[in-house]
Amino acid sequence: MSINPDTQQHASPVAHFGFDASCCFIGGVWQPASGGEVLTLENPSTGETLCAIARGDAADIDAAVIAAQTAMQTGWGRATALERGRFLSRLGRLVLDNVEQLAELEALDVGKPVKQAKADAVALARYCEFYAGAADKVHGETLPYLEGYTAFTLREPHGVTGHIVPWNYPMQIIGRSVGAALAMGNACVLKPAEEACLTALAFAELAAQAGLPAGALNVVPGLGAEAGQALSSHSGVQHISFTGSVSTGAKVQASAANSVVPVTLELGGKSAQVVFDDADLDAALPFLVNAGVQNAGQTCSASSRLLIQKGVYHQLIDQLAGRYAQLQVGDAMQDLALGPLISARQKSIVEQYLSQGSDLDKVAVGVMHDDASPQGHFVLPTLFADVPPDHVLAQEEIFGPVQVVIPFEDEDAALAIANGTPYGLVASVWTNDGARQMRMAKALRAGQVFINNYGAGGGVELPFGGVGKSGHGREKGFEALYGFSCLKTVAVSHG
Ligand code: NAD
Repeated sequence: MSINPDTQQHASPVAHFGFDASCCFIGGVWQPASGGEVLTLENPSTGETLCAIARGDAADIDAAVIAAQTAMQTGWGRATALERGRFLSRLGRLVLDNVEQLAELEALDVGKPVKQAKADAVALARYCEFYAGAADKVHGETLPYLEGYTAFTLREPHGVTGHIVPWNYPMQIIGRSVGAALAMGNACVLKPAEEACLTALAFAELAAQAGLPAGALNVVPGLGAEAGQALSSHSGVQHISFTGSVSTGAKVQASAANSVVPVTLELGGKSAQVVFDDADLDAALPFLVNAGVQNAGQTCSASSRLLIQKGVYHQLIDQLAGRYAQLQVGDAMQDLALGPLISARQKSIVEQYLSQGSDLDKVAVGVMHDDASPQGHFVLPTLFADVPPDHVLAQEEIFGPVQVVIPFEDEDAALAIANGTPYGLVASVWTNDGARQMRMAKALRAGQVFINNYGAGGGVELPFGGVGKSGHGREKGFEALYGFSCLKTVAVSHG
């Protein structure tokens, strides 16, 4: 299925939501970009044009920031924590009521198999529910201080928060950042990715239906170098949440430094799963594969490195190869194991990496479905074995369905390899030795460590973020609420 730009109001899942995909959502109103320009979205499964979206620019970002500032001074800024929680609760309900349609939009726009898109829509609802419940449970403290004083802290919103999100998990990333920011009483300006932004727009429409006051959430689609840059450097923004590549994250941080505002950077990764000889291999196997190929490997927390101890190495390689041979690739609407990559550009990047692996032992590839369109941006999942830890494929984030397997002798060697990249987002350890579980959990350099499982980006309740080039700051869980608020200390002298 595709969305015809001429008939999009009648023939597409966009029509179900009733918004105009070629508009920005500013101050509660759907309006074209001020310059009147549009970009086109592509269906990555077929290469066909999906629809036009607004090409928002600095003027639109400015209008969105002003709308957010106005919301902070009026309705939304005066809402109690209870009211904010109730709004998020209604929004979560609406998201759940529209899971099928949101999943269809995401599958068409991102190329994500429908089942995965549905899981993302459910996760978006879950973020709304979690932050609905948390909104009135974040509070300050009373502090022991001098004789004759009472001192306490208040948790307050930053004000206007900017949210720049990528194309790979729009719904999940919007849920975790916008959900937490709204719970704390901020007004948000969201810049979705130019490659995929339909569910961001649908989310804005659902937020309006849930009764969000005008200006509390504004969405300005557009190019990174235009709308994104304008948002990250706008003097009216008090906090920036950025999810995307390391190079863009560095630019956003530099912009934020000019305005002296805090920034959360959720960047890339080269996450490892470490399998010891004593592990339950049957339990590990599906996690080892799925966490690498989910969303066609376009997952910041994808486990692109599998470190396997020598005693089970050959046995596990055979089992992994067997799984890979069954991985089917095709149109997102066919709901196979993998859909396409987001764009021809992303496909070309991944293919360049694959060509750099020509010296490696390619032990398995997946299969292309007969009906896959030649114009779709498909790449077969590929598994390389016996990869030296310093090989480019074992060091750089590929952002495609490519996994490398690296053998190791003992715990020290495993740690050195696992910690031996500039990234540190997620890691997992498969072992039944309890003492080793604890040693590894402490010694691994990563924002999240899983023992005997792997939650690729999952866990609404679990703080998430990186160290090193994977970024800084934490989203998800309660921790995000601290990031999206600032602490004020009050000391009252009363004699
Ligand atoms: P990207 O950095 O190119 O784009 C991300 C967002 O930034 C988009 O909305 C884009 O329009 C915007 N942008 C681009 N240039 C900008 C600029 N100069 N100023 C402000 N905004 C700008 O990244 P991408 O290619 O879309 O996403 C892939 C990367 O994102 C991967 O490296 C991946 O690991 C990372 N990622 C990380 C997480 C996480 O939570 N850690 C999640 C998803 C993706």
